[in-house]
Amino acid sequence: MQRYAMGIDFGSTTAKVVILDAEGEVAGSAISQKGAVSDEGVRVAQAEALQQAGITQADVARVVSTGYGRRMLDIADRTITEITCHARGAVALVPEARVVIDIGGQDSKVIAIDANGLVARFAMNDRCAAGTGKFLEVLARAVNIELEQMGGIALAATETVNITSMCATFAETEVISLLAEGVTKPVVLAAVHQSIANRTVGLVARVGKRDPVVMTGGVAQNVAAVHYLQKALDTQLIIPDGAQLAGALGAALFALDDLQLDDAERRKVQQGDDDLDDLAAPQSCAPACAAKQAKPIVFKPHATTTAQPTEATHGRA
Ligand code: ADP
Repeated sequence: MQRYAMGIDFGSTTAKVVILDAEGEVAGSAISQKGAVSDEGVRVAQAEALQQAGITQADVARVVSTGYGRRMLDIADRTITEITCHARGAVALVPEARVVIDIGGQDSKVIAIDANGLVARFAMNDRCAAGTGKFLEVLARAVNIELEQMGGIALAATETVNITSMCATFAETEVISLLAEGVTKPVVLAAVHQSIANRTVGLVARVGKRDPVVMTGGVAQNVAAVHYLQKALDTQLIIPDGAQLAGALGAALFALDDLQLDDAERRKVQQGDDDLDDLAAPQSCAPACAAKQAKPIVFKPHATTTAQPTEATHGRA
């Protein structure tokens, strides 16, 4: 019987699951959105990923969870923080990455990666919605547009205006006033995305900008967020296939590492690992954390996430 490793990213908005086989190949993956921090979302994503892999949970020998709700999962053998898992997953997808920008539903993080593929520094915004996917969700609702369409509409703007409020609630008021003044929806939405880009550039400056820059997280699917971020950073972002699955992939890789340890070593990493993000940077990795893969991990077409084409480098040749 083959032993599989499972990574679960229990995010604020979506649940993501990646299953790796013993060779480290992606056997199954899924993303599910069933409401904020939803158990049901995890169950749905888990069932879909298992089905893709053609296995049952009994074939999974090790589960590592990460993300906002990671401690809520009884099924997990170990929890590891988001920075550690996102960095690991992003480097597995793009081994040459030196900066990872992850913009999810509830937070945005920028991680500087050292030459060995390990976390060197990171900066995170998780105190308010500014600069996160939630900010975009609130403002899409305010202008009565589907989240999936807002990026495309913003790109049609031929001019921009400024949104000065960082807080989503105040920004919503500002957006409504602009619309009342006759400013068009594309122009207003362009300003919303520009605001996200400006906020993210501030985080990048805190860790130090270096190329290549990889973007992960759900907001990587938003073409205008990518466009304005590229302009603000004056760099082309690499957006790998499976960008939204990077955290779950990182967790699955840690689970796979664990499978290769003996019981005593496994108990050791089980105790000490969860608060890596709280340590002063630069941080060292757990014994099993071989960061750089020899070759990138590729999500096969069965993966549920497919990036939309933008001027950024999406996917791999
Ligand atoms: P989390 O891990 O916090 O649950 P994700 O990385 O899954 O967050 O990202 C969720 C965010 O991604 C949403 O808030 C939304 O802004 C954005 N998003 C997800 N899917 C799409 C899409 N198809 N088009 C545009 N934006 C999207």
